[in-house]
Amino acid sequence: MKYESILDAIGHTPLVRLNHLTRQLPCAVYAKLEFLSPGGSVKDRIGMYMIQQAERRGEIAPGATIVECTSGNTGMGLALFAAGRGYKTVFTIADKQSREKIDMLRAMGAHVLVCPTDVPPDDPRGYIQVAQRLARDIPGAFLCNQYDNPDNTLAHYASTGPEIWDDTGGMVTHFVCGMGTCGTISGAGRYLKEQNAMVQVIGVDPQGSIFYELFHHGVTVQPHVYRLEGIGEDFIPKALDWHTIDNVVQVSDRDSFLMARRLARTEGIFAGGSSGAAMLAALQLAEKLGPNDLVVVLLPDGGRQYLGKLYSDDWMREHGYLDAKPDSAPL
Ligand code: PMP
Repeated sequence: MKYESILDAIGHTPLVRLNHLTRQLPCAVYAKLEFLSPGGSVKDRIGMYMIQQAERRGEIAPGATIVECTSGNTGMGLALFAAGRGYKTVFTIADKQSREKIDMLRAMGAHVLVCPTDVPPDDPRGYIQVAQRLARDIPGAFLCNQYDNPDNTLAHYASTGPEIWDDTGGMVTHFVCGMGTCGTISGAGRYLKEQNAMVQVIGVDPQGSIFYELFHHGVTVQPHVYRLEGIGEDFIPKALDWHTIDNVVQVSDRDSFLMARRLARTEGIFAGGSSGAAMLAALQLAEKLGPNDLVVVLLPDGGRQYLGKLYSDDWMREHGYLDAKPDSAPL
């Protein structure tokens, strides 16, 4: 393909059939490889869309500073867009996110403030609160606020959903997707359900986040810190549309990381921890389905930014996710 700008290369990601992890399964499972987008994640779509829409509405002036609270990937999508348009970027990020994500944002020319993870959502030191304060303090700043911005969800309604529908020829029966801001699941899920109301939309939530208990029992549990990045929340984002979601599955850090590692080694798909989480949920679901079902699982980002974490045997052992290596272990 030949493109006139890097922005044209965003989206249109491949939908790839799994052939090995699924060998014993009755139905087809296809993975949507969002890490093949130029900024390396599903969030390129919303970075571009949120600013284009703000430009269209006259909400952002030339040379403005884009401010955003991000787990890294949205910042990358925004930085990609901002580079070509001459916007400045300031991002706040929680300190649990990988070093590589912070370095990548700085490499793209962004100013990055690292904020503590383990504070309540309304704590003034938290990354969302800091972004809101910066947006008030910086003259002409534009705060994207992906958690509450309807354009987050609409970006996926306009691109991710239609791509899945078209690439499966309308045969998709189940869509499995992680829940962070919930823009992806709400936007793509809504599009798919509008095409065929029978499509089942399954959210994936890490232990420690609030979505699973909220969905199943209507209660908000006390959140706790977990190591998966990009999914789970300790508050309800406005981007979340419960009407599109048929089920929410809970996964652990450990099982998600181990699944991401299996995915790399058995399918050659090198993806991040939240992709492992989604894949785990997709495979568990697929076991219960039949030959006419077609599962699509969205893989939000790639593995490179987690080389020092889930792809490091030492890091995995340090956190008890892999057994200690016996001294005499063969290579
Ligand atoms: N996985 C990763 C790695 C992410 O960065 C994000 C975005 N926070 C998600 C999953 C979840 O996507 P969404 O915010 O659209 O729910």
